Amino acid sequence: MASKFLILAFLAITSSLAFADPSSLQDFCVADLKSSVPVNGLVCKDPKLIEANDFFFSGLHLAGNTSNPAGSRVTPANVAQIPGLNTLGISLVRIDYAPWGINAPHTHPRATEVLTVLEGTLQVGFVTSNPDNRLITKVLQKGDVFVFPVGLVHFQHNVGKVNAVAIAALSSQNPGVISIANSVFGSKPAISADVLAKAFQVDKDTIYNLQSKF
Ligand code: MN
Repeated sequence: MASKFLILAFLAITSSLAFADPSSLQDFCVADLKSSVPVNGLVCKDPKLIEANDFFFSGLHLAGNTSNPAGSRVTPANVAQIPGLNTLGISLVRIDYAPWGINAPHTHPRATEVLTVLEGTLQVGFVTSNPDNRLITKVLQKGDVFVFPVGLVHFQHNVGKVNAVAIAALSSQNPGVISIANSVFGSKPAISADVLAKAFQVDKDTIYNLQSKF
């Protein structure tokens, strides 16, 4: 009986160590972008040297250039722009959409996203994982908020006749982006057309045509 209790206690302690919330042990860890030490995240700058600008970014009032095939532009404000976000698990983007512009299907490997529409009308959606692959979609107006759960493929489409603008918060200092079309058809070197033709159940010429766009 006692040994059973000890085993349970041991399991509880080791599992709490393995899954402990990695709470910050300091007020902040402003990224030292010049350090070449490889760590999970970025090395902290000497706290005595930090300044307000380490926590500051100006530019989300500026519309991104949407003159591109997708008709959209993402302006990030993550740890690359704001070193003070290092280790804090949060960042922002501004997204501009021309009329009928899209933010093409993509996923963030390290973040859930909460998107708020500031201007315009967006159809948004995400797809649940296998085997259901259910599309969860909604048309959003100014002031509406929508959540894209971590890892799921999602998109936005400006279905209005005017420009649209959104601000999204992401639960990582460095959310990462995997654009589905670019990953699948634009990898370097390319995934073999044999693989993609079988995967998409089309002929290889269709694959070559798709690959030529990326
Ligand atoms: Mn996204």
